[in-house]
Amino acid sequence: MQSGPKTVVWFSEVTKQDIPLVGGKGANLGEMTNAQIPVPPGFIVTAQAYFDFLNKTRLMDKIRALLEPVDINDSRQLQHVAARVRQIIEHALMPAETRQEIIEAYRKMGGGLVAVRSSATAEDLPDASFAGQQRTFLNVQGEAEVATAVQGCWASLFEARAIFYRVQQKFDHFKVGIAVPVQKMVQSNASGVMFTLEPVTSDRSKIVIEAIFGLGEAIVGGEVTPDMYIVNKEDMAIQLKKVSHQEWQLVRNVTGGDRETNIKESLPASRQNEQKIDDEDIIHLANLARQIEDHYNFPQDIEWAKEDGRLYILQTRPVTTIKETYDDGPEITAPVLISGASASPGLASGTVKVIADPSEIDKVKEGDILVTVMTTPDFVPAMKRAVAIVTNRGGRTSHAAIVSRELGIPCVVGAERATVILKTGQVITVDGSHGKVYDGKVARRIATSPMASVILETIKTRTRVYVNLAQPELAEKVAAHNVDGVGLLRAEFMVGQIGEHPRYMMEQNRGDEFVRRLAQGISIFTSNFAPRPVVYRTTDFKTNEYRDLKGGEKYEAKEENPMLGYRGASRYIAEPDVFRLELEAIKKVREKYKNLWVMIPFVRTVEEMRRSKEIMEAAGLKRSPDFKLWMMVEVPSNVFLMEKFLEVGVDGISIGSNDLTQLTLGVDRDNEMLQEAFDERDEAVMLALEKVVKTAKKMGVTSSICGQAPSVYPELTERLVEWGITSVSISPDMIGTTREIIHKAEKRLGIAP
Ligand code: PEP
Ligand code: MG
Repeated sequence: MQSGPKTVVWFSEVTKQDIPLVGGKGANLGEMTNAQIPVPPGFIVTAQAYFDFLNKTRLMDKIRALLEPVDINDSRQLQHVAARVRQIIEHALMPAETRQEIIEAYRKMGGGLVAVRSSATAEDLPDASFAGQQRTFLNVQGEAEVATAVQGCWASLFEARAIFYRVQQKFDHFKVGIAVPVQKMVQSNASGVMFTLEPVTSDRSKIVIEAIFGLGEAIVGGEVTPDMYIVNKEDMAIQLKKVSHQEWQLVRNVTGGDRETNIKESLPASRQNEQKIDDEDIIHLANLARQIEDHYNFPQDIEWAKEDGRLYILQTRPVTTIKETYDDGPEITAPVLISGASASPGLASGTVKVIADPSEIDKVKEGDILVTVMTTPDFVPAMKRAVAIVTNRGGRTSHAAIVSRELGIPCVVGAERATVILKTGQVITVDGSHGKVYDGKVARRIATSPMASVILETIKTRTRVYVNLAQPELAEKVAAHNVDGVGLLRAEFMVGQIGEHPRYMMEQNRGDEFVRRLAQGISIFTSNFAPRPVVYRTTDFKTNEYRDLKGGEKYEAKEENPMLGYRGASRYIAEPDVFRLELEAIKKVREKYKNLWVMIPFVRTVEEMRRSKEIMEAAGLKRSPDFKLWMMVEVPSNVFLMEKFLEVGVDGISIGSNDLTQLTLGVDRDNEMLQEAFDERDEAVMLALEKVVKTAKKMGVTSSICGQAPSVYPELTERLVEWGITSVSISPDMIGTTREIIHKAEKRLGIAP
């Protein structure tokens, strides 16, 4: 500013030196305008004009006299006097020249809709503390209306809380002034926000833009899902565009009574799936974002709008990060019927179906809640129809837990008397995140931020994120996510669907049928994930599970401890003919899909690993650059003798932390009474994990983990990355979270790609 103080100044005439005259908000509008940032144009009625008004109307003494005797702690009295002061200010006559200058400036900017804002000033006082205490008038139109609104802003300096604040801080009421920016209001055809970094990962090489039709307030309220565009700062190329469906838009209320309330207007069907702004605008916005970030020298969170083909910047402030999920909302207060272990997160309500035996699973209809003692592979069809699952028995690595996480439905396990307390027909709500079951239907908003999930879909990490899968039906959906392959394909579910014991089928000369059907199932994974690897884990049924297959009783002994019994590699060596069926299926799939690898589970001795490998080689499955052989690390012997196992010759190992924890701590993983004791974060287990990962690294083989541990305790993933794990395989609901954790850990370690 040159020359003496003025009543009205244009944004372009102001810089940050002018805070005493135009306040912080006014000065910022000036800064942006002068930096060629296209803020909607306008002018500022200066603090000088306000003081002039007080002087000329001789209001100062009058107001002081009113305020002096007020006890600010008597809120009724304070409210009353505050209202009286405001009334005096609003009804006083504005000096004619001031009014004339305001009106002329309004005319000069072309009239139309304006926002009349407050920008408090305070000589020799910090100004930030006044922010937000005064009024803003939106959608103001007309000369007289603008002048009145300016006076309204002046009066708002005497809102009760502002008076309270000044008295409490011992500020003189008249040392505080107020400037009033009058700014053109944009009737947005499209609008949104943008960030000069990825808010979820703080990746500063990206600009993230959100866009909707109409006014941007609909984004803030979360009512409309915006389009999302990501632009690379380095080459300013659009890296991602995600267009969302929008059925209505918010528009300004320029005629109705309550002008401050916007109106919802439906969009024609032809526009509902349109990209909100074109690519040229996206790049233009990204350039503005960069310019603004450079100007402020800090990542910015920016509001923008487009009107009649022009882009405007409405506001910019330093970025504060956003979270993947919004607050869970208030705790549920409905009565808790029973509780157990949280096995799969989420909240769902439905009708209880208590199932005593797999033969009754047809009772479970779409949308019901399956309640049973413990699930087995025979329950899977019912589990797929259910919206939630509750079991009496089992822990976090039990069948029920693993399947419900894969299906993405809430599950509570180990809820001891669930099948007795819950009655068929009763409506309940299952809170899988907290292991609780409530009476009746309970709602709680658990909104996920669409921006967060889209961003998580674009992050790249050096450590691979694999997924644990079993059901072919889910392959397509899961493969669409930001995941590098299947780190554990559990074959048992496919075999369960075939439904008959493989030896039983062999004896009926139907071995080929088994091979064909298994190959069919595997191909669904390999085709959907190609070229990403699918690591097929050869069957690891326990004898009790094999017995449940048709014909199984004839071949499977009744064991006291099936978990410690005839399972895993021991079976392949004892019954190579049955194992060969599986190998044939693998070979068949590999004729077409080279992305199928194999992993051997539950290997007790080095000799077992050697023999299993020999059988595979004899069947024609030899390691090669496109065929990797992995060994699972599930038995403590594997950890103790890691080097020797690796010397047999494998390409990678994958830690089965479920079995490894069970055997390291001597805790039955399915025993609900021992859930507290079953903890993968135990020092002994952690020591085992560290040794395995570091040894693998030292010996040049890849390492992975496919137990539930990193899906349940994501913090574990961080340690594994530190130790040098090559991949982490998790349940599908954890893809985004795991990617984010790895990304952060790699950044911290300086090994990000
Ligand atoms: C494990 O034991 O950690 C594992 C992944 O295998 P499963 O849970 O199928 O025994
Ligand atoms: Mg296992």
